[in-house]
Amino acid sequence: MRILVQKFGGTSVSSPEARERVIQHIVRERGDGYNIVVVVSAMGRKGDPYATDTLLGLVRGDGDHLPPRERDMLLGCGEIIASAVLCGMLNASGVPSVALTGGSAGIMTDEGFGSARIKRVNPDSIIAHLCRGTVVVVAGFQGISPHGDLTTLGRGGSDTTATALGAALGAEMVDIYTDVNGILTADPRIVTDAKPLPVVSYAEICNMARQGAKVIHPRAVEIAQQARIPVRVRSTFTEDKGTLVTDDLALASGRPVRDKPVTGIAHVSGISQIAVKAIEGRSDMQLQVFQTMARHHISVDFINVTPSGALYTVFDKDAEIADRLLREAGFAPVLVPGCAKISVIGGGMNGQPGVMARIVEALTEQGISIMQSADSNTTIWVLVRESDMVVALRALHAKFDLHI
Ligand code: ADP
Ligand code: ASP
Ligand code: MG
Repeated sequence: MRILVQKFGGTSVSSPEARERVIQHIVRERGDGYNIVVVVSAMGRKGDPYATDTLLGLVRGDGDHLPPRERDMLLGCGEIIASAVLCGMLNASGVPSVALTGGSAGIMTDEGFGSARIKRVNPDSIIAHLCRGTVVVVAGFQGISPHGDLTTLGRGGSDTTATALGAALGAEMVDIYTDVNGILTADPRIVTDAKPLPVVSYAEICNMARQGAKVIHPRAVEIAQQARIPVRVRSTFTEDKGTLVTDDLALASGRPVRDKPVTGIAHVSGISQIAVKAIEGRSDMQLQVFQTMARHHISVDFINVTPSGALYTVFDKDAEIADRLLREAGFAPVLVPGCAKISVIGGGMNGQPGVMARIVEALTEQGISIMQSADSNTTIWVLVRESDMVVALRALHAKFDLHI
């Protein structure tokens, strides 16, 4: 059975016209002989009636007062509505279809409301429908807990539904349809001349997604990589071929190869830098600092430990409490809120001299100071002031000729 999973994001199902485009993509691939499993996100973005953020806005404090279980019940409605609406439109167009919630599609998760992990997928129900020639429309971003409660998979989690179903069904391909022409060299909202990448490896896109490129959820890429399923990220609204995510060079043949040390640039804002100086006679400084953060579930990043102190970052939302906890423990931390982490990513930089020099050159030319840096063999990270972030992203993008 040749199975294709097609996932359509919020903007792709936001209006009747957009949904007509969705139906065209489904009909085309079905005509090519595929059995189709569709995964949908909630319709539209904040402000649209059934979008995830709009649903959250129904409760004071954007849902902060809801217990996690009930919050997931509310959030799950957006995708359920989208799946039923699309099913109705498909049937009206003469395409037999059925809509399933995540639970009825066999997606079983743990009890981690708000960011549940998929434990198992039982594809029997989907397969039974496909055998009858029916298009199966699954509500993305959700599953069912061992106690039968609806769980959600974390923001952006419909991508994860798509690749998890692809893996469970042995799909030939997973198509992620969105509002941009694929995975671009940087966020197009900031870098307007960002270019679509014809082919990327799982590792590169996973890295970009983890470092803030919102176009695909990193968990979705991990699942596709494990199952060795190729993923195409493409636009619902153009005929562009989009980006192929694969490690299989044979599959990528025919697509142009970009031979550059840097593949793309990603960013995360809303970060605070914390510097803690060692205190004379207290040898347990490092242990105290990081145990304190861990005890209070504060996630730390960009960690730099020397005998004279510790330098690291936390999210702005955790900065105040981190600062207070450190002071209570007898330290005198120096806090710099409002920073951004920029990641320069590329499988091709491994062993290539001069990449860091070009990063420093690009930022120095703009008068931007690097507050901290780190590197692996495929990524160089720099921390800058958030107020410098946009200029820094554009300068780095130009320095590495990513617009060409
Ligand atoms: P969907 O609702 O289709 O899942 P998302 O909003 O989750 O769409 O992701 C698509 C958006 O991701 C794009 O509109 C774009 O603004 C943003 N984005 C950020 N970084 C990148 C990147 N490197 N390539 C493409 N899009 C990116
Ligand atoms: N609707 C959910 C969100 O906005 C899931 C998704 O779009 O993938 O996070
Ligand atoms: Mg998304």
